[in-house]
Amino acid sequence: MNSPATQNQLQFDILVIGSGAAGLTLALKTADFARVAVLSKGDLNQGATFYAQGGIAAVLDESDSIESHVADTLSAGVGLCHEEIVEHIVAPFTTKESFDRGENESVSGELSSLHLTQEGGHSQRRIIHATDATGKAVFETLSMRAQAHPNIELLADCTAVDLVTQRREDGSGSVCVGAYVLNLKSGRVDLIKSKFVALATGGASKAYLYTTNPDGASGDGIAMAWRAGCRVANMEFNQFHPTCLFHPHAKSFLITEALRGEGATLELPDGSRFMATFDSREELAPRDIVARAIDHEMKRLGCDCVYLNITHKPASFLTEHFPTIYSRCLEFGIDITTDRIPVVPAAHYTCGGIMVNRDGETDIDHLYAIGETSFTGLHGANRMASNSLLECFVVAFGAAKDIQSKIALTALGTNIDAWDESRVRKSDNEVLVSHNWDELRRCMWDFVGIVRNDERLQRAERRINILREEVQAYYNKHRVTKDMLELRNLALVSELIIACAIARKESRGLHFTLDYPELMTNPVDTILTPPTLD
Ligand SMILES: Cc1cc2nc3c(=O)[nH]c(=O)nc-3n(C[C@H](O)[C@H](O)[C@H](O)COP(=O)(O)OP(=O)(O)OC[C@H]3O[C@@H](n4cnc5c(N)ncnc54)[C@H](O)[C@@H]3O)c2cc1C
Repeated sequence: MNSPATQNQLQFDILVIGSGAAGLTLALKTADFARVAVLSKGDLNQGATFYAQGGIAAVLDESDSIESHVADTLSAGVGLCHEEIVEHIVAPFTTKESFDRGENESVSGELSSLHLTQEGGHSQRRIIHATDATGKAVFETLSMRAQAHPNIELLADCTAVDLVTQRREDGSGSVCVGAYVLNLKSGRVDLIKSKFVALATGGASKAYLYTTNPDGASGDGIAMAWRAGCRVANMEFNQFHPTCLFHPHAKSFLITEALRGEGATLELPDGSRFMATFDSREELAPRDIVARAIDHEMKRLGCDCVYLNITHKPASFLTEHFPTIYSRCLEFGIDITTDRIPVVPAAHYTCGGIMVNRDGETDIDHLYAIGETSFTGLHGANRMASNSLLECFVVAFGAAKDIQSKIALTALGTNIDAWDESRVRKSDNEVLVSHNWDELRRCMWDFVGIVRNDERLQRAERRINILREEVQAYYNKHRVTKDMLELRNLALVSELIIACAIARKESRGLHFTLDYPELMTNPVDTILTPPTLD
């Protein structure tokens, strides 16, 4: 057991794990009545939020309506969206004034140009954006306000290892009382005690070889919640973004579908278009259809990529509306005003996650999950573009209100054990971690990717199961490192993805299997319950 001298014990009212749109919004909404810590694995801006290009879906134009936004979301979700949640999340930002009034503090100001663009699945122009760097604008506004707030402590380079929960004395379930956190600067695992914990850790797209997501998207929140006893749902629905820049030196650079909204066409190497063969909406079909079409054509022709062509638009329009994409592509020698952009699909968004209600409450008392790590029922079998940032804000608002209603009657947990490192040694064989990272991500890409079948899934199940056992054995013997923790979480989350994919005997939305190409008549969510709850 560590001596108290070598281990820090911090305490806050609220511990928010994650500094993206969801975590920072919750921190800002609670900091006037609580002391809040916000953790980030690396720099504060390393979540997916910073990279969001397209925008935030909101009904702001007179010709648009809530009903239409709800209907589009339900249609994209192919029968699995929870309609009451869709209505709850879509409703709040219906007027331009609601942004400016500060109902959504994160986006007022920066998004004031209010040019509305259109994206796949949306029947209207309803995407509010800050050119093609919306996430950066959102993140910078939120983090600036959080830094200025005296009740918020931003703790960068701190990786949560696991949640701390305690059984209620009356036997009525568990309550979350904090988390063990690896401080990457000191190398120490500290105990952070708190009255409430919120997981805002983002998605798990790093499970796949090709992804648009930053490195930290390793499903940590989902894995921690599962180990603590929370149910997860619909993990089979991984969204693959159809258009990630294909270039050997371009890591994870997404080409927003707003480009297709502005008329960009998808073309094969010979210049012919192909989307009409797959869907009458052509380039504006939902992402799953476009990704599958590209995957199909690439496999049919054996080509490395397809092309996105927006050269028909005036150069001034492209440099004004898509400055980030324009300059990033130019770095790789592609001038989007005259050249076609080579693109491939890549893992982009985790639609499933920790089961929560509309206020982000999980199965464990005082544990919340918000943002991409959670499953609210909004996205169903397929997320509609630009609905996710909206979900981060709305559920964070609900969680903040819920915490406010409970905080006066809540005390910090007591008798919590310190982190025990007495039986582990320093990691001396990092190649085991790096090798398993690669193996896991390739296995998921090849066998649990855009097009699945039973044989591939069963093969993946066996492989990932072995990997997970190896990683767990390594974890049990060694002091934790960030890479090891992420791999441990990814291995677990991959198992959950595969278990959900095997359970769904139909093709719906993002889950497409050659063995069950039809839709079932009464679809239900795929809900997994951790062994501890049985
Ligand atoms: C390239 C790209 C473009 C996108 N474009 C759009 C768009 O236009 N519109 C839209 O609505 N959505 C878009 N999305 C999706 C959207 O950006 C994300 O779903 C959303 O930002 C997720 O926010 P979040 O707060 O849940 O998590 P994130 O922003 O991913 O933040 C996660 C945070 O958790 C921290 N964290 C994770 N694990 C741990 C741990 N163990 N310990 C401590 N901290 C941890 C990370 O460091 C990070 O701070 C896009 C995503 C990508 C990748």
